Amino acid sequence: MPYEIIINERLCHGCNDCVIACPKTVLCRDDPENMIIIVKSGKARIMKSELCDGCGMCIEACPVRAVRIIVPAQTEG
Ligand code: SF4
Ligand code: SF4
Repeated sequence: MPYEIIINERLCHGCNDCVIACPKTVLCRDDPENMIIIVKSGKARIMKSELCDGCGMCIEACPVRAVRIIVPAQTEG
């Protein structure tokens, strides 16, 4: 199960810092075609979330703490 990234559209002001910080190009602001989660125009969006490795750099980069990651549950056995 992949990581799930959530951007709080109420907090996001579209500064682009999370987009720049992501080494996997999971986040974008300007490509509405491939996005998985749609937020208001000009705000951060999630695309190709299957590439996310949960590094957390987007969370650290966001000045308003708008990015959250849900870590997949570990299955045992
Ligand atoms: S956790 Fe890392 S790989 Fe995933 S979206 Fe954030 S910066 Fe990109
Ligand atoms: S760093 Fe935060 S405020 Fe800036 S675009 Fe990303 S989610 Fe929005």
